[in-house]
Amino acid sequence: MPNKKITLLIPCYNEEAGLDLLYERVSKIMDDLKNYDFEMLLVNDGSRDGTLEKMKLLRENDKRVSYINLSRNFGKEPAMLAGLDYCDGDAVIILDADLQDPPELIPDMIKIWETGVADVYARRKSRQGESFFKKLSSHWYYKILQRLTNIEIQVDTGDFRLLDRQAVQALRSLREGQRYTKGLFSWIGYRKREILFDREPRAAGETKWNYWKLVGLAIDGITSFSVVPLRLSSFLGLTISAGTFMYMLFTIFKTLIFGEAVAGYPSMMSVILFIGGIQLIVLGIIGEYLGRIFNEVKNRPNYLISECNGKKIYMEDDKE
Ligand code: UDP
Ligand code: MG
Repeated sequence: MPNKKITLLIPCYNEEAGLDLLYERVSKIMDDLKNYDFEMLLVNDGSRDGTLEKMKLLRENDKRVSYINLSRNFGKEPAMLAGLDYCDGDAVIILDADLQDPPELIPDMIKIWETGVADVYARRKSRQGESFFKKLSSHWYYKILQRLTNIEIQVDTGDFRLLDRQAVQALRSLREGQRYTKGLFSWIGYRKREILFDREPRAAGETKWNYWKLVGLAIDGITSFSVVPLRLSSFLGLTISAGTFMYMLFTIFKTLIFGEAVAGYPSMMSVILFIGGIQLIVLGIIGEYLGRIFNEVKNRPNYLISECNGKKIYMEDDKE
């Protein structure tokens, strides 16, 4: 029996500073586990520093290293998809380039995978180096997301996980644009098992997330897995129109019976402003979904590859 092949998929964006350290720690694991064939697949997501050159050097010295160079920065999610599309082994392990996901967990993940689990995900016991506000908001966000969607999303879990070939193929078949991978992992199903770890602070370089990006991701998460906000806005509209209808009847009768001294400017203003605000919110919600539809309808590829292990990639080649 030939060895099973496991791909370590690592999306990298401006990670020049940390790649050597990453290679050092990962290659130790690859050397230790002799019963498996490893491939370290680095995806360069349009880095602006010397990340690509570093990758080329690593490949020169160790053919277990492969790299894919995307044509520009597409974001972590498309970069991961590019890696998933590329790999052809029995399992894939996704990890961050900044060593926040300790490679030392890999042997345990593989052990669990060998018992027939298709998705071994790593759940953080602790989140070092993250602000109280970030922790609190993420806690509440997942509570809400869980309520709004029917799929179960693993809390305190990132993309650090081992995926069986079966799960990889399932993920590949989901070609939607604005990907919310966290939800997709749950959506595909299959047997899952968690493994606990302590998330370390970044080894080198700096985080690519800021609050705006996180808010965008949060909205993507809800709008790609739930239409509850649309339904809520209908309910809101219904409730408010029912209320205002009653109020209208009330004013008509009041005027008929008691007559009307021209007054009521403040109440009129407040009603107009209130309803105007609600309308804008509801329009915004509809717009969110419309934007998603717009992006899906264009049906563009999720990413473009310019080079793979030194070979120029042409899109037409895929069709053969
Ligand atoms: N990353 C990427 N493309 C991006 C942003 C990030 O490939 O546009 C990679 C990055 O190089 C790292 C991983 O995604 O390997 C996680 O990024 P980061 O450490 O900045 O996120 P955090 O750990 O702060 O959530
Ligand atoms: Mg990180």
